[in-house]
Amino acid sequence: MLGFPIPYSEELLYSTIARSGVHDGDVSPKQLLEKVFNNRRVIATVDLPSHVQAVANQYPDSLGMDAKTLIYRHTLWPIYAPFLPPDRSDKVIKWMSGSSQGAAHLASGIVASRVKTKGRLYVCVECLKEQRIKYGECFWERFWQIPIVNTCPKHGPLNKTTIVIDGEHRHTFTVIEDAEVLGKVNATNVDKLFSHQVSQLMQVISQGISPTQWTVFYEQFASNLGYLNGLRIDHSRIYDSVIRFWGKGWLQKAGILPSYIETSWLKALFRKHRKSFSFAEHIVVITALSNGRFSICEAIDKASSIVIKSENNIPPKKRDLNTLNMLSPDQIDWEVLIEAVPPKAARLLNKALYARLYRNHYDWLMHINSLFHAEKVVVNNRVDWPQRDRQIAQNLRRVCKNLSEDLKAPRLSRTFLIHQLENRATVEKNLHRLPRSSHLLALYSESTDEYQARRLTRTYLDILKNKKHIKRWSLLRAAGLSDERMTDIVSKLLEEILSE
Ligand SMILES: [Zn+2]
Repeated sequence: MLGFPIPYSEELLYSTIARSGVHDGDVSPKQLLEKVFNNRRVIATVDLPSHVQAVANQYPDSLGMDAKTLIYRHTLWPIYAPFLPPDRSDKVIKWMSGSSQGAAHLASGIVASRVKTKGRLYVCVECLKEQRIKYGECFWERFWQIPIVNTCPKHGPLNKTTIVIDGEHRHTFTVIEDAEVLGKVNATNVDKLFSHQVSQLMQVISQGISPTQWTVFYEQFASNLGYLNGLRIDHSRIYDSVIRFWGKGWLQKAGILPSYIETSWLKALFRKHRKSFSFAEHIVVITALSNGRFSICEAIDKASSIVIKSENNIPPKKRDLNTLNMLSPDQIDWEVLIEAVPPKAARLLNKALYARLYRNHYDWLMHINSLFHAEKVVVNNRVDWPQRDRQIAQNLRRVCKNLSEDLKAPRLSRTFLIHQLENRATVEKNLHRLPRSSHLLALYSESTDEYQARRLTRTYLDILKNKKHIKRWSLLRAAGLSDERMTDIVSKLLEEILSE
């Protein structure tokens, strides 16, 4: 079609198609579909439209308006792309370019998402005024149509319009002139903050990030910001931070109020990712936990740069322990090192390791170094506490090493570990003077998950060593576990072991 309108910056493809009808001397909706798509059954989709290639074909190559550019610049695709695995992301783009209506919505997770798409079109009346001055006409901006977004980052609350999506006008592309602007929506300060994050996200061109990359990202994120309780993710503190930052009312309205139960999305976000999470869930957690210091764009940047070493080759035991203790190999190396020598000396001994940690785990590095900086503090002149701390830490390490191989050992709780030491009364009373030892206690004490996982992997390795055939019931019995008592994580571990 000659003279097909070129989309304005941030204009929805839906809007450009609608304008093409007007520019062309007003045709019926069916005629418009026939003209642009050569197909009268195309649905006028706002968020992730299909048949994008047919629109791209309207432009000369010199404009660079290929299907992919149109998808990234003129649809809501950027709020989905970074949160899907690369192969799925490719598929959605293919479906959007072509004609598979509905498939893009299914594959992008929109259909199954807790976050519901908007039921009608929205506008910012101030932006409309600016458009009219700048271009002499108005168009639908994509940002206004994003789920949960209630405000324009530049001006303020959005207004509803009379244009309802779906229903009887599903084949009609409506221009903004045919819409009636209704009242403003309610918006709070929290809405502004959310809007701001989403507007940044809209400019990101991501080819997709794998679930494993996101899994590792959130492990490191929680660990760097100190959301750990010993080795475990501190789910209840994460929950508190999210609720405090966004407020229950806002989260409820957005459809993503997390619950306390084990299968809550918020807990799942900090476990191995088995499905994708929505842009809103990512934004909510990243902003709340970092208290607004970390943006969604920085998170995407970081997650996409995480290199996953052929994950299928890692034996289940190692993989599971890694997710359980949440520390990277570099962090573990550093802990071993500064247990032997003071942080300054450790830094000189392995400069490269220090530099990597400084770059990737700065907060964690400062925290752990501060724990081991206690040498200079003299509390009691008669007792050389730093010296004693080193001795106790050494004992503790030995005790834990032996216990971790002993299937008969009970859960390695903090109290249980202290009671294995010779001078346990001193330790209990003076933990505040023993930074090394108390750090190790936090590191080694087990949650129920960790306890069960340790039993399961130990038993599994024993059976392997004796070259016996592995049966589910015998593995469970030897590990002293039962279906009723097993935690979620451990049953998943068991499934993995049995599928090997
Ligand atoms: Zn505006």
